[in-house]
Amino acid sequence: MQSPIEHLSRLLARLPGLGPRSARRIVLLLLQERENLMLPLAAALEKAACEVRTCSLCGNLGETDPCSLCASPTRDRTTLCVVEDVAALWALERSRAFKGLYHTLGGTLSALEGRSPADLKIDSLVARARNGGIKEIILALGATVEGQTTAHYIAERLAGLPITISRLAQGVPMGGELDYLDEGTLTAALTSRRSV
Ligand SMILES: [Zn+2]
Repeated sequence: MQSPIEHLSRLLARLPGLGPRSARRIVLLLLQERENLMLPLAAALEKAACEVRTCSLCGNLGETDPCSLCASPTRDRTTLCVVEDVAALWALERSRAFKGLYHTLGGTLSALEGRSPADLKIDSLVARARNGGIKEIILALGATVEGQTTAHYIAERLAGLPITISRLAQGVPMGGELDYLDEGTLTAALTSRRSV
């Protein structure tokens, strides 16, 4: 049996950006701040785990399904922005440059990592596109090989529909993941998007 301290350290070390050393430092800090930090954190984690749900329309995370974006009467329902994951969706929302709706793929195509179209939410994207009402689909995928392969594949699947397909333009560095771009760069990339 591992001690509670070891157990917690091992769990924390699995978080992105944390290794065993930083995990131990966090455990120490938490134990020193039990009332102010550790117990509220435990309660917040449990609440989020129980209450946050995935939007069945766009894949966003929030307290409701459909999410607040999909349910909002002020969003432009004729424009759909396709993103790799929720981190990219949130990055675009932070930029405030996009007022339409989203579609989260849940990853990118990767032969190396064995992700095929069936592993991504591509069929549901095509279904949304066929349902009508959408005039433009923006492929806001990273400038990585996987991102561009995915964008190309989706553009082919959507070919023939009366929808403008565009992708992010300048400002997305090669190899760039959307989540790491500053908001100004993301806004520029979105506003100067070009047709595929
Ligand atoms: Zn949604």
